[in-house]
Amino acid sequence: MYNPKSMKAEEFICHEEVLDTLRYADTHKNNLELINQILDKARLRKGLSHREAMILLDCDIPEKNQEIFALAEQIKKDFYGNRIVMFAPLYLSNYCVNGCVYCPYHAKNKHIARKKLTQEELVREVTALQDMGHKRLAIEAGEDPVNNPIEYILECIKIIYSIKHKNGAIRRVNVNIAATTVENYRKLHEAGIGTYILFQETYHKESYEKLHPTGPKHDYAYHTEAMDRAMEGGIDDVGLGVLFGLERYRYEFAALLMHAEHLEAVHGVGPHTISVPRIKHADDIDPSAFDNGIDDDIFAKLVACIRIAVPYTGMIISTRESKACREKIIHYGISQISGGSKTSVGGYVEPEEDDHKSEQFDVSDKRTLDEVVRWLMEIGYIPSFCTACYREGRTGDRFMSLCKNMQIHNCCLPNALMTLKEYLIDYASPETQKIGEELIKCELNNIPKDKVRKIAEDNLQNIEQGKRDFRF
Ligand code: SF4
Ligand code: SF4
Repeated sequence: MYNPKSMKAEEFICHEEVLDTLRYADTHKNNLELINQILDKARLRKGLSHREAMILLDCDIPEKNQEIFALAEQIKKDFYGNRIVMFAPLYLSNYCVNGCVYCPYHAKNKHIARKKLTQEELVREVTALQDMGHKRLAIEAGEDPVNNPIEYILECIKIIYSIKHKNGAIRRVNVNIAATTVENYRKLHEAGIGTYILFQETYHKESYEKLHPTGPKHDYAYHTEAMDRAMEGGIDDVGLGVLFGLERYRYEFAALLMHAEHLEAVHGVGPHTISVPRIKHADDIDPSAFDNGIDDDIFAKLVACIRIAVPYTGMIISTRESKACREKIIHYGISQISGGSKTSVGGYVEPEEDDHKSEQFDVSDKRTLDEVVRWLMEIGYIPSFCTACYREGRTGDRFMSLCKNMQIHNCCLPNALMTLKEYLIDYASPETQKIGEELIKCELNNIPKDKVRKIAEDNLQNIEQGKRDFRF
């Protein structure tokens, strides 16, 4: 029944195959010979199957776990260097017809303030985001065909790209909206979106149906097959994720990797990103009502094993996680983080300091973008506002082949330095600026090709003279 090439959800996320994988890993989790073989394969940096990765996740031999974390860290360095791409979520509307039991926007929540951005409010939100220094957004909206039809989303994307405030510009709009039709995905593609992101929430069908008791999202197959429709509609870059805490993390881990294998098998390109959100408190949602919460140690292991299993897939953690947790996890494979986020509709212009009354989830990391940027540099990372790939047509398999051949470094590093320079000049505090200028000077020496370094140096000077938007 298990068939990664099948287009049916229950066949590419085959429940029996997940259970077999869990049993197999349980049997072999202390099999030193097998673990060493898997680690040798992982060192080739070509990824692992879900079964192999599951054994590493379950392994509880301390020395081997040290090797797993060290390898994850090394793979992150090899593919992503010390760069971290920055983004922010932008909530367009919290109207929603679904009944997701873990989200305060569920249709039965009658006391939460419902809001949908008007065009004027959208302009104000995007201007506020540009004034913080953001260049890359992930737009979010509940599912509501009356209040948030696809035309509304498309109009918002058009407006977002058109706003140019001072030196600001949103250069990449990623989209996180409900599963939809091929035709609508085609429209999103034509609107110039970056990644289409859709969290599976849980891959466990029975739990999925209980957690989504009402609304169109109740349909497990329609939701799980959404990425195939998105790709059929021309969207090359898709982002997966589960909401850890809803189901047992081992089940989700195996199934998530099976989903990645399915995309690779059918479309020749795996997921562009994987997000690893954990369930958090919000309005009428109490995370302790869910039995499957994971602690920071398991969370770190999950991140490390995903990094090893799918080296070419970017990994995202949001401000759901605290500064301390982000600092602990980031080394094991994270390539993108959000900063200065607001998770309510209209929250960038009118922050809800008092009672978080319409946030989708409580933000743990409440620092400003400037503080996050400075912190990243202080712990040895280069914050990057790069959006070059999609604008240069490097999406899908074109992106993956560059990434697999490790050629992406010649783009990512200079792009990170040039976009950081823009940020420092236009938005940073003097302290951040000082640290950033030193970092740029130092990191320029790490650009592998002389020719690229020379062009980057010229562009950095041009940025100082007021020019913007250079990219490789
Ligand atoms: S998770 Fe999404 S679909 Fe579900 S209630 Fe919240 S906004 Fe609606
Ligand atoms: S060059 Fe491409 S892969 Fe590298 S940071 Fe920019 S957008 Fe991402």
